[in-house]
Amino acid sequence: MGTLLVLWDIDKTLLDVDGVGFEIFSSAFAEFSGIPQHKDTRGPGRTEWRWFHDTLLANELQVTEECFPRFLRLQDAQFEARAADITQRGRVLPGVPEILRYCADTSDVVSSLLTGNARRNAERKLRAFGLDHFVDFDLGGYGDDHMERGELVEIARRRVYERTGTQFTPATTVIVGDTPNDVRAALDGGARAVAVATGVTAAADLRAAGADVILDDLADTEAVLEALLG
Ligand SMILES: [Mg+2]
Repeated sequence: MGTLLVLWDIDKTLLDVDGVGFEIFSSAFAEFSGIPQHKDTRGPGRTEWRWFHDTLLANELQVTEECFPRFLRLQDAQFEARAADITQRGRVLPGVPEILRYCADTSDVVSSLLTGNARRNAERKLRAFGLDHFVDFDLGGYGDDHMERGELVEIARRRVYERTGTQFTPATTVIVGDTPNDVRAALDGGARAVAVATGVTAAADLRAAGADVILDDLADTEAVLEALLG
C-alpha cells in the first residue's frame, strides 16, 4: 500500500470514559469561573478550546488570552484527582488495540491523533488504557492547538512533515471519528473521513455529514483497514 497518515479521534472512537471528561471539565469550569451552577454547553466533537470559549460566552464571562491556559491548569488538578474514575468507569472500544497495533507496526502508516482533547489530556486518556505506545503524540493535532477542529488537519500534517519529511495530502490523509464535527474537520481540512458509529451519532447522520465510509465499530481489523485505504 502507499503511505498513509491516519489521525484518530479519541472519545467514543478509541475509548469511552463514561462522561468523566465532561464532569472534569464542569468542575474545572466551576473553579475557574466561581460559578458552581454555570450553564453547560453541549456538543460532541468540539475542541476543548471551542468548548471552553462557548461556555465562557454562555455564562456571559469575558474572553481573554490567558483564560484558556489558566483553565487547563485548573483542569490538570481535576484529571489527577479523577484518574481512578477514568480507568474504572472507562473502557477501550472493541478492536482498538488491534488496529492501533497494526498501524504502529506498519511502516507505510503514520498513526497519530486528531482530537478535541488538549494534548496533555489526550496523553492522559490513552495512557490510562495502555494505548499510549501505539501513537506518536508529537505528530497529532489537539484541542489546545486551535479552536477550530478543521485547522488541526493541517497542523498535524505540518508536524508530520517537519518530523518525517513526508508531505501527506488530502488523498493520503484519513480522519477517523465518531461525530459530524470529525467529518467536517476532514472535509474542511482536506482529508478522507472514516466515521465510526460508536458515539451518539447514528450512521445515517454520519453519512449525511459527508463521511466517505461508515463503520459500526472498529472491531473488524480487516474491514477497518479496507476503510482506511479507501
Ligand atoms: Mg469523539
